[in-house]
Amino acid sequence: MGTSVTWREIDLGGSVAGGTSENYKTGNWRVERPVIDYGKCVKCLICWLYCPEPAIVRRGNEVRVDYDYCKGCGICAEECPVKAISMVPEEV
Ligand code: SF4
Ligand code: SF4
Repeated sequence: MGTSVTWREIDLGGSVAGGTSENYKTGNWRVERPVIDYGKCVKCLICWLYCPEPAIVRRGNEVRVDYDYCKGCGICAEECPVKAISMVPEEV
């Protein structure tokens, strides 16, 4: 066996602050954008729950996409229980 060490002798690991994704606008990664059909949206916020970016926001009584942060992954469209979100090609 090699030399044994206790946890007190191991160097401290690094740590990363949480919530840093807000500092990086990922909207320019997008090739498709989610568009919400407000005639179908039931405001359940499932899209907010699944969105990996801070891109689903509430504005007053409406659920909106913040296109500065939306990277166009399509998870929200996949998870929306009433299929209120369509992914449409991004205009170049
Ligand atoms: S998941 Fe669909 S129905 Fe629910 S808030 Fe989002 S867009 Fe609206
Ligand atoms: S496409 Fe992806 S990043 Fe954009 S709002 Fe939907 S889940 Fe969030």
